[in-house]
Amino acid sequence: MTQLVTGKKTRFATAWLGGCSGCHMSLLDLDERLIELFQAADLLYSPIADIKEFPRQVDVTLVEGAVANVDHLELARQIRERSHIVVSFGDCAVTGNVTSLRNRLEVDDLLSMVYREGPGREPRGREGDGILPALIPRVLPLHQVIAVDAFIPGCPPDPDTIWEAVSALLHGAPVRLKQEMRYFG
Ligand code: SF4
Repeated sequence: MTQLVTGKKTRFATAWLGGCSGCHMSLLDLDERLIELFQAADLLYSPIADIKEFPRQVDVTLVEGAVANVDHLELARQIRERSHIVVSFGDCAVTGNVTSLRNRLEVDDLLSMVYREGPGREPRGREGDGILPALIPRVLPLHQVIAVDAFIPGCPPDPDTIWEAVSALLHGAPVRLKQEMRYFG
Protein backbone atom coordinates (compact mmCIF):
# COMPACT_ATOMS: atom_id res chain seq x y z
CA MET A 1 0.00 0.00 0.00
CA THR A 2 1.31 3.46 -0.86
CA GLN A 3 1.99 5.50 2.26
CA LEU A 4 1.09 9.16 2.30
CA VAL A 5 4.06 11.18 3.50
CA THR A 6 3.18 14.81 4.03
CA GLY A 7 4.18 17.76 6.13
CA LYS A 8 1.32 20.21 6.55
CA LYS A 9 -2.13 18.93 5.78
CA THR A 10 -3.36 19.21 2.21
CA ARG A 11 -6.51 21.28 1.71
CA PHE A 12 -8.67 18.73 -0.08
CA ALA A 13 -12.13 18.88 -1.68
CA THR A 14 -14.42 16.72 -3.77
CA ALA A 15 -17.36 17.96 -5.82
CA TRP A 16 -20.35 16.31 -7.47
CA LEU A 17 -21.62 17.67 -10.78
CA GLY A 18 -23.65 15.64 -13.31
CA GLY A 19 -22.97 12.10 -12.14
CA CYS A 20 -24.62 9.27 -10.23
CA SER A 21 -22.35 9.61 -7.14
CA GLY A 22 -20.85 6.20 -7.91
CA CYS A 23 -17.39 7.76 -8.10
CA HIS A 24 -17.80 9.07 -4.56
CA MET A 25 -19.00 5.63 -3.47
CA SER A 26 -15.79 4.21 -4.90
CA LEU A 27 -13.82 6.85 -2.98
CA LEU A 28 -15.53 5.66 0.20
CA ASP A 29 -14.44 2.12 -0.75
CA LEU A 30 -10.91 3.16 0.18
CA ASP A 31 -12.14 1.87 3.54
CA GLU A 32 -9.35 1.98 6.14
CA ARG A 33 -7.15 3.99 3.76
CA LEU A 34 -9.58 6.87 4.37
CA ILE A 35 -8.06 7.18 7.83
CA GLU A 36 -4.62 7.69 6.31
CA LEU A 37 -6.07 10.06 3.72
CA PHE A 38 -7.64 12.30 6.34
CA GLN A 39 -4.54 12.24 8.48
CA ALA A 40 -2.80 13.85 5.50
CA ALA A 41 -5.66 16.07 4.28
CA ASP A 42 -8.41 18.29 5.61
CA LEU A 43 -11.69 17.76 3.74
CA LEU A 44 -12.97 21.31 3.13
CA TYR A 45 -15.84 20.63 0.75
CA SER A 46 -17.63 17.49 -0.42
CA PRO A 47 -21.13 16.06 -0.91
CA ILE A 48 -20.31 13.78 2.00
CA ALA A 49 -19.57 16.83 4.20
CA ASP A 50 -22.58 18.97 3.15
CA ILE A 51 -20.70 22.30 3.09
CA LYS A 52 -22.58 24.92 1.06
CA GLU A 53 -19.86 27.30 -0.13
CA PHE A 54 -16.83 26.13 -2.09
CA PRO A 55 -13.83 27.37 -0.06
CA ARG A 56 -10.80 29.35 -1.23
CA GLN A 57 -7.20 28.15 -1.46
CA VAL A 58 -7.89 24.47 -1.95
CA ASP A 59 -4.85 22.36 -2.87
CA VAL A 60 -6.59 19.46 -4.64
CA THR A 61 -10.20 19.06 -5.82
CA LEU A 62 -11.62 15.86 -7.31
CA VAL A 63 -14.64 16.61 -9.54
CA GLU A 64 -17.13 13.85 -10.26
CA GLY A 65 -19.60 14.21 -13.11
CA ALA A 66 -20.04 16.11 -16.34
CA VAL A 67 -21.20 19.70 -16.73
CA ALA A 68 -24.92 19.51 -17.52
CA ASN A 69 -26.59 22.65 -16.15
CA VAL A 70 -25.92 26.25 -15.19
CA ASP A 71 -25.21 25.40 -11.55
CA HIS A 72 -22.53 22.93 -12.64
CA LEU A 73 -21.01 25.61 -14.87
CA GLU A 74 -20.82 28.10 -12.03
CA LEU A 75 -19.41 25.60 -9.54
CA ALA A 76 -16.83 24.30 -12.03
CA ARG A 77 -15.56 27.84 -12.65
CA GLN A 78 -15.45 28.54 -8.93
CA ILE A 79 -13.53 25.31 -8.32
CA ARG A 80 -10.99 26.25 -10.99
CA GLU A 81 -10.53 29.71 -9.55
CA ARG A 82 -10.09 28.43 -6.00
CA SER A 83 -8.15 25.16 -6.48
CA HIS A 84 -4.49 24.66 -7.25
CA ILE A 85 -5.07 21.20 -8.76
CA VAL A 86 -8.35 20.13 -10.37
CA VAL A 87 -8.84 16.44 -11.11
CA SER A 88 -11.41 15.06 -13.51
CA PHE A 89 -12.73 12.16 -11.42
CA GLY A 90 -14.45 9.30 -13.27
CA ASP A 91 -15.68 8.81 -16.83
CA CYS A 92 -18.58 11.29 -16.66
CA ALA A 93 -16.13 14.09 -15.85
CA VAL A 94 -13.49 12.75 -18.27
CA THR A 95 -15.69 12.08 -21.33
CA GLY A 96 -19.30 12.97 -20.50
CA ASN A 97 -20.11 9.23 -20.36
CA VAL A 98 -23.63 8.37 -19.12
CA THR A 99 -24.58 11.98 -18.44
CA SER A 100 -23.96 12.95 -22.05
CA LEU A 101 -26.39 10.36 -23.44
CA ARG A 102 -28.97 13.13 -23.60
CA ASN A 103 -26.83 15.04 -26.11
CA ARG A 104 -28.55 13.42 -29.07
CA LEU A 105 -31.72 15.31 -28.07
CA GLU A 106 -32.44 19.03 -28.13
CA VAL A 107 -33.04 20.34 -24.61
CA ASP A 108 -36.58 21.52 -25.45
CA ASP A 109 -37.46 18.12 -26.93
CA LEU A 110 -35.99 16.40 -23.91
CA LEU A 111 -37.97 18.53 -21.46
CA SER A 112 -41.17 18.02 -23.47
CA MET A 113 -40.67 14.26 -23.44
CA VAL A 114 -40.05 14.25 -19.69
CA TYR A 115 -42.65 16.79 -18.53
CA ARG A 116 -45.40 16.63 -21.16
CA GLU A 117 -45.26 13.16 -22.57
CA GLY A 118 -43.92 11.70 -19.34
CA PRO A 119 -45.48 12.60 -15.98
CA GLY A 120 -47.96 14.96 -17.68
CA ARG A 121 -46.49 18.30 -16.64
CA GLU A 122 -45.59 21.34 -18.70
CA PRO A 123 -42.04 21.55 -20.03
CA ARG A 124 -39.93 24.00 -18.05
CA GLY A 125 -37.85 25.27 -20.95
CA ARG A 126 -34.26 26.37 -21.16
CA GLU A 127 -34.46 29.04 -18.49
CA GLY A 128 -35.12 26.73 -15.58
CA ASP A 129 -38.01 27.34 -13.21
CA GLY A 130 -36.29 29.06 -10.31
CA ILE A 131 -36.07 25.75 -8.49
CA LEU A 132 -34.22 23.48 -10.86
CA PRO A 133 -31.19 24.90 -12.70
CA ALA A 134 -31.55 25.30 -16.46
CA LEU A 135 -29.92 22.61 -18.59
CA ILE A 136 -27.15 23.73 -20.91
CA PRO A 137 -27.60 22.70 -24.57
CA ARG A 138 -25.00 19.94 -24.47
CA VAL A 139 -23.47 18.01 -21.59
CA LEU A 140 -19.72 18.67 -21.54
CA PRO A 141 -16.78 16.84 -20.01
CA LEU A 142 -15.08 18.95 -17.37
CA HIS A 143 -11.97 19.82 -19.41
CA GLN A 144 -14.16 21.49 -22.05
CA VAL A 145 -15.33 23.97 -19.43
CA ILE A 146 -12.25 24.57 -17.27
CA ALA A 147 -8.59 23.60 -17.37
CA VAL A 148 -7.99 20.22 -15.73
CA ASP A 149 -4.66 19.07 -14.28
CA ALA A 150 -5.19 15.32 -13.97
CA PHE A 151 -7.66 12.60 -14.95
CA ILE A 152 -8.84 9.50 -13.10
CA PRO A 153 -10.92 7.51 -15.63
CA GLY A 154 -13.25 4.63 -14.81
CA CYS A 155 -16.96 4.12 -14.23
CA PRO A 156 -16.36 4.30 -11.42
CA PRO A 157 -12.58 4.38 -10.98
CA ASP A 158 -11.56 1.46 -8.79
CA PRO A 159 -10.39 2.27 -5.26
CA ASP A 160 -6.79 1.20 -5.96
CA THR A 161 -6.57 3.64 -8.86
CA ILE A 162 -8.11 6.38 -6.72
CA TRP A 163 -5.58 5.62 -4.01
CA GLU A 164 -2.68 5.77 -6.47
CA ALA A 165 -3.88 9.14 -7.73
CA VAL A 166 -4.71 10.64 -4.35
CA SER A 167 -1.39 9.44 -2.93
CA ALA A 168 0.51 11.11 -5.75
CA LEU A 169 -1.51 14.28 -5.45
CA LEU A 170 -1.10 14.57 -1.71
CA HIS A 171 2.55 13.61 -1.76
CA GLY A 172 3.85 16.98 -2.83
CA ALA A 173 3.00 16.29 -6.46
CA PRO A 174 0.81 19.35 -7.13
CA VAL A 175 3.71 21.49 -8.32
CA ARG A 176 4.90 18.79 -10.72
CA LEU A 177 1.37 18.07 -11.87
CA LYS A 178 0.90 21.66 -12.94
CA GLN A 179 3.66 21.17 -15.50
CA GLU A 180 2.01 18.37 -17.44
CA MET A 181 -1.39 16.75 -17.41
CA ARG A 182 -1.41 13.50 -15.52
CA TYR A 183 -3.53 10.47 -16.38
CA PHE A 184 -4.09 7.77 -13.78
CA GLY A 185 -5.39 4.28 -14.40
FE1 SF4 B 1 -21.56 7.29 -12.02
FE2 SF4 B 1 -19.84 6.07 -13.67
FE3 SF4 B 1 -20.43 8.63 -14.01
FE4 SF4 B 1 -18.95 7.90 -11.89
S1 SF4 B 1 -18.36 7.72 -14.05
S2 SF4 B 1 -20.67 9.37 -11.90
S3 SF4 B 1 -19.89 5.89 -11.43
S4 SF4 B 1 -21.89 6.91 -14.20
